[in-house]
Amino acid sequence: MAKRVVVIAHCLLNYHAKILNSGVKNEAGKMIIPQLLERGYGIIQSPCPEFTHGGLKRWGQCRSQYNNPFFISHCHRLAGDIINQLEEYRRCGYAVGPVLGINGSPSCGIDFCFDGEWGGKIDNTGQTNNKRVDQLVCVRQPGVFMEVLRQGAIKRKIDLVYIGIDENKPEKSLETILSSIE
Ligand code: SF4
Repeated sequence: MAKRVVVIAHCLLNYHAKILNSGVKNEAGKMIIPQLLERGYGIIQSPCPEFTHGGLKRWGQCRSQYNNPFFISHCHRLAGDIINQLEEYRRCGYAVGPVLGINGSPSCGIDFCFDGEWGGKIDNTGQTNNKRVDQLVCVRQPGVFMEVLRQGAIKRKIDLVYIGIDENKPEKSLETILSSIE
């Protein structure tokens, strides 16, 4: 029996939690999850921090919108439960991790996510307060949830590897995952 549990971003298993009509087909999940199961690893599916905060009809938001005290405390609650689970597995001799996030997500990104001066009133001009997606920039920071999870794990002295899945290059992501645990 492989005594290892891996933590995955919720949508890697349940892509329906992404923003409504996101168009994502979850090729990454279809490729990565069976490989983990095949090797006998356990999978902890983290709750989706955005779905459990704004529901399915939430707007797409950027990092600085989520990086507020209310969303951060929400993330602390969710991450705390994952950390407790990891501690218990570790106490019983399991290897824990890696944590698989989704690069680009303002919540679950690992290596990068997107940020910008977003927020404000929605009006009838169709321009959403003059904000456009191409005004966002890629920032070399983790998403808010992954940042909270990482800080919490460090406090509890749980050493974890974090891997950001590139949903457009699932094969490459799988290679990185397997090379980190085999
Ligand atoms: S917040 Fe995380 S789990 Fe939820 S849809 Fe985005 S990347 Fe997936």
